[in-house]
Amino acid sequence: MAELEGLEFGKSDFVLLDEVTMDQFMENLKLRFQKGRIYTYIGEVVVSMNPYRQMDIFGKETIEAYRGRELYENPPHLYAVSDAAYKAMKRRAKDTCIVISGESGAGKTEASKYIMQYIAAITNPGQRVEVESVKNVLLKSNCVLEAFGNAKTNRNDNSSRFGKYMDINFNFNGDPTGGHINNYLLEKSRVVHQQQGERNFHSFYQLLRGGSEEMLQSLHLQGDPALYVFTREGAGAATSYNDRSNHKAVMSALDVIGFSNQEITSIYQILASILLLGNVQFEVDGESVQVVEDGVVNQIAELTATDPDCVVKSLLYRTVATGGGEVIEKGHTEQDACFGREAFAKALYERLFGWIVSRINSVIEVKNYNPVLHGKNTVIGVLDIYGFEIFDNNSFEQFCINYCNEKLQQLFIELILQQEQSEYQREGITWQHIDYFNNQIIVDLVEQPHKGIISILDEACLTVGKVTDTVCLESMNTKLAQHPHYTSRKLSPTDKTMDFQKHFRIRHYAGDVTYSVEGFLDKNKDLLFQDFKRLMYNSANPVLKEMWPDGQLGITEVTKRPLTAASLFKNSIVALVDKLACKEPYYVRCIKPNEVKSPVLFDDARCQHQVAYLGLLENVMVRRAGFAYRQLYSRFLQRYKMTCEYTWPNHLMASDRDAVEAIIRQHGFQDDVAFGHTKLFVRTPRSLFTLEQERAALI
Ligand code: ADP
Ligand code: MG
Repeated sequence: MAELEGLEFGKSDFVLLDEVTMDQFMENLKLRFQKGRIYTYIGEVVVSMNPYRQMDIFGKETIEAYRGRELYENPPHLYAVSDAAYKAMKRRAKDTCIVISGESGAGKTEASKYIMQYIAAITNPGQRVEVESVKNVLLKSNCVLEAFGNAKTNRNDNSSRFGKYMDINFNFNGDPTGGHINNYLLEKSRVVHQQQGERNFHSFYQLLRGGSEEMLQSLHLQGDPALYVFTREGAGAATSYNDRSNHKAVMSALDVIGFSNQEITSIYQILASILLLGNVQFEVDGESVQVVEDGVVNQIAELTATDPDCVVKSLLYRTVATGGGEVIEKGHTEQDACFGREAFAKALYERLFGWIVSRINSVIEVKNYNPVLHGKNTVIGVLDIYGFEIFDNNSFEQFCINYCNEKLQQLFIELILQQEQSEYQREGITWQHIDYFNNQIIVDLVEQPHKGIISILDEACLTVGKVTDTVCLESMNTKLAQHPHYTSRKLSPTDKTMDFQKHFRIRHYAGDVTYSVEGFLDKNKDLLFQDFKRLMYNSANPVLKEMWPDGQLGITEVTKRPLTAASLFKNSIVALVDKLACKEPYYVRCIKPNEVKSPVLFDDARCQHQVAYLGLLENVMVRRAGFAYRQLYSRFLQRYKMTCEYTWPNHLMASDRDAVEAIIRQHGFQDDVAFGHTKLFVRTPRSLFTLEQERAALI
């Protein structure tokens, strides 16, 4: 409710709109943005606008104002939901989670940092050393993960190229005792190629620009990103990101978290090896392919603690098992060699990233926790994951990301409705059913066994012989022709924007997305020759070896049907959804006001689009379909008692509930409310406004 602020700042909760229409929603959103009010509620959901400027609404003082208070006692803020999640966890021993969604650049990662800072600030009042150290690692891990997992894109100078879910564990005192990070689908294709104006992951530029002379020398590097194929394109990209100072911060964070010197050195050796791999050149010599001899391979061998001949061999040959069970070495074509080299560079980076995450996890994992002695160990999870993506050219990555968003949307619908329903039941109030678009049908289109897109892709990947992207598309077109959310060019023959050999379209809950099938199969197969795995497993560097346990398998032992990238991703998202579903959810829905990072521009069309696909209007409707507003009797009474002669200054009734009933009767609002066991439920916001106005006139 707009309790602390006047209406000139717009309505602080969208449920208070006079009518739930897109126009009214947008008008309120815009007004609030222009007035510097970046947060607005829909019930307990926070809608957050990226201000693209520093706001003085963060920090110690504000944290104090929100600490331990109820949602509606202060203007809407991330801190208020963080506190609500924390209170539910502490008082009711509930596991909770905060799900942050929105498109790239909408402010998700910044929001997750404010949430973490809030939780860190309000816990451990006794300054216990063990707790402080856990908090420190949790906070420092951000800086490391951003260095290795973020990059400059055309949408965001510091864009997270992976999804992140972090659990924070608490003891019975409500103090953090540890945590766990899950990462999802790192965009590893960025290691070898970036779009115009974009950069590779920050870590490479940090090392090249921030590493000391001595460090670079030992890594066989020169401090100029323009010298390396993988960083060349992004070398000149303007960015607000300071590579040099961030390098220092990352080095110190690694140290604080507890990475050993050998581990830190290994991390940078791997980064250097990747950069050098990019510069390896092949030449065709008659029938065979050779590596151009310029010393790079020797440097890679030294940095990865492997034998130079073995490095050359794995770049040029692959071991294959023949039908007769014989093992032979087959020379690459130049194209295969380039493909293999790039796959290797991507895999090195992906494994490095995964290893860093698991190393952080081993430090923060809760140790020696005894529930009998210490009480229930509760959790707050924070999810910062890529939002829905519609680009000019949408590929396999967008397909995965958008599938993930369908799953999360499905969960959002289920949980928000469920939460409403269970609150009504708890309070003894009848629940009325609401119709909403259930996107399960789209989720099925993607993930259903045998029939879904992932299954069809997997089948194509596992078929022996040359199945091309186009052939696979044919198969999808045939099998999915009847699906209401799937369109092929054949089904839509007049659509000139779709090439029937290349494209298919999914009608997502958030809008139509046309995917280009080119590269789908390669990305799904995610093939890395076993020779590279073995090479790494045989490294004399134990840190590197640890990252490649599967390298010990011989070629005949390698499983013929490894899980594909899409299936692995699906499994990880299903596990994520399961994890979230058993927690009490809090939502932050982030909106990007414009494409040009301007603090003043409100791009109506872009904002409206986001509001639409985040389902915010439906969210308001669901919230209002029952009762827009609910409040504990004691609090309601406290606030409005002066508006009624029977309750001011004090009431003589048997209970707060009776007193509240007296207020409601005096105003004639009986038909607009329901009386729960502990709370008053108000159907429309109008009655509340009347009360607010009367109250304002009296004080
Ligand atoms: P996302 O994670 O959704 O892609 P980010 O959280 O990285 O987006 O935000 C993108 C950029 O927007 C940030 O680098 C920052 O410049 C700006 N920004 C986001 N949230 C805020 C905020 N609360 N205050 C100031 N600037 C912000
Ligand atoms: Mg982000």
